[in-house]
Amino acid sequence: MTTQLEAARDGVITKAMEAVAQKEGFTPQEIRSLVADGSVVIPVNTRRLQTVNPIGIGERLLTKINANIGTSQSYPEVEYEIEKLEIALCAGADAVMDLSTGGDLHAIRQAILDRCSVPVGTVPIYELMVKHKADFSIEKYLDIIRDQAQQGVDFFTIHAGVLRSHIADINNRLMGVVSRGGAYLVSFMKRTGQENPLYERFDDILEICRTYDVTISLGDGLRPGCINDATDRAQISELEVLGVLANRCREAGVQVMIEGPGHVPLDQIQRNMELKTQFAGSTPFYVLGPLVTDVAPGYDHICGAIGGTLAAYWGASFLCYLTPREHLGLPTVTDVREGVVASRIAAHAADLARGKAGARQWDNAMAKARIDFDWEKQFELAIDPQKARERKDTARGSDSVNVCSMCGDYCSMKLTRES
Ligand code: SF4
Repeated sequence: MTTQLEAARDGVITKAMEAVAQKEGFTPQEIRSLVADGSVVIPVNTRRLQTVNPIGIGERLLTKINANIGTSQSYPEVEYEIEKLEIALCAGADAVMDLSTGGDLHAIRQAILDRCSVPVGTVPIYELMVKHKADFSIEKYLDIIRDQAQQGVDFFTIHAGVLRSHIADINNRLMGVVSRGGAYLVSFMKRTGQENPLYERFDDILEICRTYDVTISLGDGLRPGCINDATDRAQISELEVLGVLANRCREAGVQVMIEGPGHVPLDQIQRNMELKTQFAGSTPFYVLGPLVTDVAPGYDHICGAIGGTLAAYWGASFLCYLTPREHLGLPTVTDVREGVVASRIAAHAADLARGKAGARQWDNAMAKARIDFDWEKQFELAIDPQKARERKDTARGSDSVNVCSMCGDYCSMKLTRES
């Protein structure tokens, strides 16, 4: 089977491209052209073409958001992760990543894939770490990605850009390497003196991904883990390699995104987006947050939403959510919900500012519902209808048809309508 990228280059409009075009307000031909030049990816494994509701990820399209779920050693129960999956989908996540590191990883992944109508991503090196600890071998890694691709995973984070030559730059950092995959590979390279095997055997990885049309998300193993380390030499050196690898993906017919930071102060976000463009052109940029300060544990979904808004405004296509429990523990179901909503607000705020399809109309509809005192319509249009309704219903005077408990008789909108 051909990949979406190969089909697009051959001039073929797939069903997935048609579905994306309809959702985004583009013509199928326009989407085909964007997929063909690599500026849009449609992550859907050939085995899940009938299951996944396709999404397009790219700067010209609406900003998408991802929710990370998955077990840990302390919380290996699959049932809890399924609850998180359901709440993430219900809250509007466009994609989900299974980052499980506890319990039966294959079975957990299958349970998620079976219930998930949006693209599912994984970080295959986690399975290697769990199963083989420090006993790294590229053959075991390739077996794992082959197994996951056969299972139907739609996109993989592959940390192929962190190289031996980057290690010296890490020593200047306040926090070193904070990506689990990156830390594992750096530790391997330091221990053995060998190059990153994912880089050396990248063609083998490409072959597996091409067979199942698994989109590669080139992982930023050296993403900054604190504000001090943002936009440093280690991060930028890796990004440069990711740009080269992105070209190799496309040459092999494999769809590709690039992952980005991390912790970045507000004044460096635009520069980070420009650096991605400098090294990787219009390859979709998938950013974690970014977090704009290190000092708000418990509220990192807000730190990430601030950074995500600016990142999407300056060109990021895909935002990985953060939950209020980031840096503190495995998220609960409630944390997942809060994280998805915060990230969706960031995505929409950026889409609105960039004039993307339908964004302004959504806000205008809300404004009209407000001036009309149409509360039901306001709940329906709210990014989180459940919370909006709860807040209204639990306030004093909630039975009032029009004004709410904020201004009462002094409601400006009532006065405006009456004047
Ligand atoms: S009372 Fe105040 S807050 Fe409530 S609807 Fe009127 S203007 Fe808005």
